Amino acid sequence: MSLAVRPGILDIAAYVPGEHALPGEGPVYKMSSNESPLGASPAAIEAYRALCDELHRYPDGGATALRTAIAATIDADPGLIVCGAGSDELLQLLTRAYAGPGDEVLYSQHGFLVYPIAAQSVGATPVAAPEKNLKTDVDALLAHVTPRTKICFVAEPNNPTGSYIGAAELKRLRDGLPESVLLVVDAAYAEYVDRPDYSDGTDLVKAHDNVVMSRTFSKIHGLAALRLGWAFCPPAVADVLNRIRGPFNTPGPAMAAGIAAIADTAHAAKAKAHNDRWLPWLSARVNEIGLKAHPSVCNFLLVQFPKDPKLSADAANDFLKSRRILPRKMGAYGLPDCLRITIAEEPAVKACAQALADFVN
Ligand code: PMP
Repeated sequence: MSLAVRPGILDIAAYVPGEHALPGEGPVYKMSSNESPLGASPAAIEAYRALCDELHRYPDGGATALRTAIAATIDADPGLIVCGAGSDELLQLLTRAYAGPGDEVLYSQHGFLVYPIAAQSVGATPVAAPEKNLKTDVDALLAHVTPRTKICFVAEPNNPTGSYIGAAELKRLRDGLPESVLLVVDAAYAEYVDRPDYSDGTDLVKAHDNVVMSRTFSKIHGLAALRLGWAFCPPAVADVLNRIRGPFNTPGPAMAAGIAAIADTAHAAKAKAHNDRWLPWLSARVNEIGLKAHPSVCNFLLVQFPKDPKLSADAANDFLKSRRILPRKMGAYGLPDCLRITIAEEPAVKACAQALADFVN
């Protein structure tokens, strides 16, 4: 008898990460995974290295020092922070804890692909609410709530659209959901946003028992390789996550690097300043040549191409790759006419603008 995989698992389309290499010689401009062009803080790299003599030791399974450092940044109790191997792991753990076969997991149409994957992996049904103008639509989300809805994921701001809904809409969503639905505010790109009407959801977690906020060290802190993320939870949710997570799910050197990254606020500010300079610059170049750069508050741009096969997103992807530039195709996100382009290092951004101009001419 052959192995019987659980029903629904083979319906999952595996996550395909952004391309990271090209055949042939020469540098590659990687603009496919929203990584920080500044890399990690030198202090974080040093802290990581300093623990390389301790690789035979188990890390602190309670992640006490890291949780304490994180909690101070949002004025919260460290006991309400749970760390994970990337925020991906926390999204998966939350889904495992709060949804199962027969349940529904709600998310916004062009939301992060891990949400439906997490839902399907526990036997729940992912339900995508349509968006308006590539923006999370609170009314559509609320209209898709059923008695079987257990979790609602919202990326604020959202990847890959780059849009955000703001504090008032986020609160309206929370208030419109039944108390029995867990609202997960995925704020992976929070540090890039400085709009006065933006909230990463911290205030909602402090006020309600059914809201969690997740964050990552992979973006502005430039520590994607270390797989480090965290969630700010109500007490009962933190307790649940601590029961089901792996006993040592965050590696010691990664935690040391995370603590140093939090302390190096100047490095994060530099990464933000780089983004503030080059995001509008690339956006303007893209719009000047007749393509559409959707408004973004993140470290990437969603660029829309015409339907004309000669000027399509697929053709642009091939053209950019011929210039050794790697964007991200968006078919898997239901946006086949778009490419997502990370605000990478300055030469990459300039090479990309030039390549797109050459492509449309
Ligand atoms: N949420 C969103 C919206 C993301 O774009 C990403 C990374 N692509 C993540 C979560 C996961 O980040 P990580 O697992 O590296 O913390």
